[in-house]
Amino acid sequence: MYGFPLKTCENDKEMEKLTKMIKLNIDNKEIETVEGTSILKAALSNGIEIPTLCYHPYLQITGACRLCVVEVEGARTLVASCATPVAEGMKVKTNSERVVKARKLVLELLLSDHPFDCMVCEMAGNCSLEKYAYEYKVSDIRFKGDKHNYPVNLESPFIARDYNKCIVCGRCVSVCKDVQCNDVYCYSKRGFSTKISTAFERPMEKANCVFCGQCVLVCPTGALVEKQRNGKGRTWEFKKVSSVCPYCGVGCNITLNVKNNKIVYVTGRDSGVVNKGWLCVKGKFGFEFVNSPDRLTKPLIRVKDKPSGLDGFREASWEEAISLITTKLNEIKNKYSPDAIGVFSSAKCSNEENYLLQKFARVSIGTNNVDHCARLCHASSVSGMGLTLGSAAMTDSLDGLLKSDVIFVIGENVIETQPVTAIYIKKAVKENGAVLIVADPRKVGLVDFADTWINHKVGTDSALLNGIANVIIEKGLINEEFIKNRTEGYDEFLKTIKKYTPEYVSKITGVAKEVIIEVAIKYAKAKNAFICWGMGITQHSCGTDNVFTLVNLAILTGQIGREGAGLAPLRGQNNVQGACDMGALPDVLPGYQKISDANIREKFGKVWGKNIPEKPGLTATEMIHLAHDKKMKAFYMMGENVVLSDPNMNFTIEALKKLEFLVVQDIFLSETAEFADVVLPAASFAEKNGTFTNTERRVQRLDKAIDSPCEAKEDWEIICLVSKAFGYDMNYSSSEQIMSEIGTLVPSYAGISYTRLAEKGLQWPCPSKEHPGTQILHTEKFPIGKGKFTPVEYKPPYEEPNNEYPFILITGRILYHYHTGTMTRKVEGLNILAPVATIEVHTKDAQKLGCKDKDIVKVSSKRGTIKATVKITDNISQGTVFTTFHYKESAANLLTIDALDPIAKIPEYKACAVKIEK
Ligand code: SF4
Repeated sequence: MYGFPLKTCENDKEMEKLTKMIKLNIDNKEIETVEGTSILKAALSNGIEIPTLCYHPYLQITGACRLCVVEVEGARTLVASCATPVAEGMKVKTNSERVVKARKLVLELLLSDHPFDCMVCEMAGNCSLEKYAYEYKVSDIRFKGDKHNYPVNLESPFIARDYNKCIVCGRCVSVCKDVQCNDVYCYSKRGFSTKISTAFERPMEKANCVFCGQCVLVCPTGALVEKQRNGKGRTWEFKKVSSVCPYCGVGCNITLNVKNNKIVYVTGRDSGVVNKGWLCVKGKFGFEFVNSPDRLTKPLIRVKDKPSGLDGFREASWEEAISLITTKLNEIKNKYSPDAIGVFSSAKCSNEENYLLQKFARVSIGTNNVDHCARLCHASSVSGMGLTLGSAAMTDSLDGLLKSDVIFVIGENVIETQPVTAIYIKKAVKENGAVLIVADPRKVGLVDFADTWINHKVGTDSALLNGIANVIIEKGLINEEFIKNRTEGYDEFLKTIKKYTPEYVSKITGVAKEVIIEVAIKYAKAKNAFICWGMGITQHSCGTDNVFTLVNLAILTGQIGREGAGLAPLRGQNNVQGACDMGALPDVLPGYQKISDANIREKFGKVWGKNIPEKPGLTATEMIHLAHDKKMKAFYMMGENVVLSDPNMNFTIEALKKLEFLVVQDIFLSETAEFADVVLPAASFAEKNGTFTNTERRVQRLDKAIDSPCEAKEDWEIICLVSKAFGYDMNYSSSEQIMSEIGTLVPSYAGISYTRLAEKGLQWPCPSKEHPGTQILHTEKFPIGKGKFTPVEYKPPYEEPNNEYPFILITGRILYHYHTGTMTRKVEGLNILAPVATIEVHTKDAQKLGCKDKDIVKVSSKRGTIKATVKITDNISQGTVFTTFHYKESAANLLTIDALDPIAKIPEYKACAVKIEK
């Protein structure tokens, strides 16, 4: 079973209303069920199988295939069990002679126009039509009429369409329309010629398709299949391995279909949580990188020969590489201090690996200089929520979104960055009537589903949110009881908020005061309101302030601590939550236990058998700056690509060049690894056991599916080898053993074990082996006791447009690529869909610049210049332009500014001044 129940008589909401139980008899079995449910559903839930081709538990009922017909006593004709509700005293026969005869006829008719090429069909062994034809022994087809003869359509990069095998069940139409909300498919022509097609037979990419692959998932025959599996193996030959998507923070559950040590294709796995079977294009089709010939396979050591000018790498043994690392890092440690070394952990690696790397930094090297890319994405959420609530994680689960009546999304292009979370939001709007408010300087995809789009100026979020708070207070919509019992600092907050009247805020943000008032009323009056945000909020030099203003709104109205009412920092990387949980941060040990607390240091010191350094470490952004000043001498980097991911790229490169020693542990020779002295080949997610923690705090297990190429090793194994060479023996035999140790030191992970995680993971806090995990945080109190109001004054972006650089540049992600492109740029289909970096420019700005669509332009800031392809759009405000940072050949971070938020030390990726030249 896959996905969310849609609006059928079987969904939860309807079921709640239909509480009357009735009795009926199916195949001589007395059954009690809820009035209004279908005969099919009643039968299936009582273990009585009825064949069906078009019915899908989570899609609209179409009654198209007629295979599920049953005999109802007293009815004149057979009825479609999927579309017929049960009734009191009903007597049903699901397998009578009459029924079987009718089903055989249906199958015969379907097969009369179906190619008998099971020998070469990718779905053989997993095709529902084949299964029922076999079960009903339909081999002799009496109908010899016309047959369709469509050419097999292989034009899309990922989906092969063979309409000769299509039975027009309509599942693909329904899933695309109702779940993905993209309406790619429709029925064309009439009668025998009826065919599923895209509108006007357009290529899929021009028909609004986002290649999520849900249509492939629900197709009951071989009409729609993954193109890349063509000819690679029969269904039964694939080893099925449970894993978790390695891209974004949703953490979708997947099954890797493996043959000959290769991932051939991927299917969404429904474990009842998170994605419930659905995926986006990257999770479904973005796995070619694992089998890429560019993978690192052996350790590399830099070879420099000054006379000849040679500067490159040579292969080395593990022993030689580790010996060189130990010698050089020990030299630097002894010559300067352990704090001259910085360790970069990775949100792409597992919890166990992040735990070990921070332990390596603190114990083997003796420094708290450990950090990771959360510094570049949600550091402001970590600091802003940590300081005001005591916990920096999503307060509810994704399912909570379905209980909200108002969802406020600010600074997050969810449809492209967390596409499966977007499915939840779209469902909340379409099915439950939730009011959606989207605040974003760009008209992002979710705006199409929104009641209100707030198109505020870049970097004015804190003013906007202060303005909303002002209206809530002025209109008397505050939650007095909540403020009195569960918060502190309200009076001080009032003093600041007074001046943020709608009129004043309108001048700063460019948003009409009526819109500010309307949004404030909607949010405050909601029974349950959820705020979701992303890097549009956090990646500013005032990122922490922005998060403070969001927390202020939630505690002002009491919209927190209940199902459907909460705060959701939507995480970027697959395991950025886990890397933070595991203490890959400079000021906290695993479980956010403060390094400054002597008792905490003692607790860890006892288990680790070494003293923990007392001085808090440096953030990743500070370490780069100090390397540039030659104050840091060596970096050890696991899976981070700072050259492309950090702001002001030329500065970052200069910093790396000034280091005395750089170690990079990765799966590819990334742009950063090219500057390394030693490169260690690591295993990809598919080649390891471990856990990731997703955006809703769910710790989930991934199982090893294939062996690593050549000599590449799992990151935790590499850390153990290096640490041992440093004289501190990390003697683990498995990642499971590491998780056991984590449980002893991190209270919120104490009840987590691999056995318990097997099916649907567990949401922390999970403090004991019996604890079921925690869906909702802060129900009674906040970890720091009372929630803190924080007065915030609006501060404009560090760099604003001027005569020389008249545009403000926003950077961000697009659907088809991920982060620095290390993985997705190795996937041919994704490169076909998004081959080059574009710069989005408003139509009127393009006219002024004299640019046409697809023109190549130079985009320059004070720090550098890139070339990008113009994409003219009205979905962006005049004076604002947008590009991505996925393309090394158009590296957006050559332009961005390294101005930092003073608390979170996150760079201001979302605003810098640029000019555009043809
Ligand atoms: Fe992977 Fe995120 Fe897409 Fe899910 S939504 S498939 S986790 S990239």
